Amino acid sequence: MAKVIAIANQKGGVGKTTTTINLGASLALAECKVLVIDLDPQGNASVGLGLNKENYEESNIYHVLIGQKSLSETVYQTELDDLHICPSDNNLVGAEIELVNEMAREYRLKKAIEKIDHLYDFILIDCPPSLGLLTLNSLCAASSFLVPLQTEYFAMEGLGQLLNTAELVKEAINPALEMEGVLLTMFDGRNNLSKEVRDDIRSHFEKKVFDTIIPRNIKLSECPSFGRPVVLYDIGSKGSQAYLDLAREILERNQKKTILLNNNNHQESLQREEL
Ligand code: ATP
Ligand code: MG
Repeated sequence: MAKVIAIANQKGGVGKTTTTINLGASLALAECKVLVIDLDPQGNASVGLGLNKENYEESNIYHVLIGQKSLSETVYQTELDDLHICPSDNNLVGAEIELVNEMAREYRLKKAIEKIDHLYDFILIDCPPSLGLLTLNSLCAASSFLVPLQTEYFAMEGLGQLLNTAELVKEAINPALEMEGVLLTMFDGRNNLSKEVRDDIRSHFEKKVFDTIIPRNIKLSECPSFGRPVVLYDIGSKGSQAYLDLAREILERNQKKTILLNNNNHQESLQREEL
């Protein structure tokens, strides 16, 4: 059964999509079977993983949520064999409105995932920058949620609301929901403010903060325009290495596998050992 991780923060532009794409690709490189679900009408994860919007207008996550298609009918292959994606586009905006009067509307994604979760090791859900019905669906379907926080002033603003929502979902709907961790993104080591924010967040969330910190790295911002995750765009970049580290940390924390991702002189060697 897959571990389902919602990548959530209602704050915009904090690195949710970058994390979904690149964590997904890094886990796939570690020979995990990964499905990314793009739950954001902006469709950035879909385009960032090389899909062409015109090719999936008739078959995407919107059709799953309104009950027209099953998830398996809307899954597409990416450049990496073990990385699949269920894409989204603008019509997903309509789903929130169309579902208003439907029964059990917050369970739609969970029900869809249950039918295919035996096919994957990880399912990563890229949430939109809001706490509406889409994010609610993802928290109901998830085993855990991962919160990217940009290391800048006001990073934690609004975080209380997200944690409250998650707590309510846990109490009322999904008792198994856990916080996977807080991920510091766009860290600039030359900037004292970045360091102060990092220390603040660490003292606040303690062990819940991943050891891995994602640096601000130009390759991470360039690669979506080529429709490729950073490991396929520039494996030696700092951004690529950071997301490989994050994948290793998540694998270790979940004790699914132990993994050694070595990168000496940008030569990648990868060893994997089942526990
Ligand atoms: P939204 O809330 O709009 O969905 P998001 O939280 O998904 O945004 P991203 O789209 O991942 O955020 O990132 C916002 C912008 O910052 C993008 O242009 C992305 O390429 C860039 N970016 C993200 N992470 C990094 C990084 N570590 N280094 C440099 N640029 C980054
Ligand atoms: Mg996004």
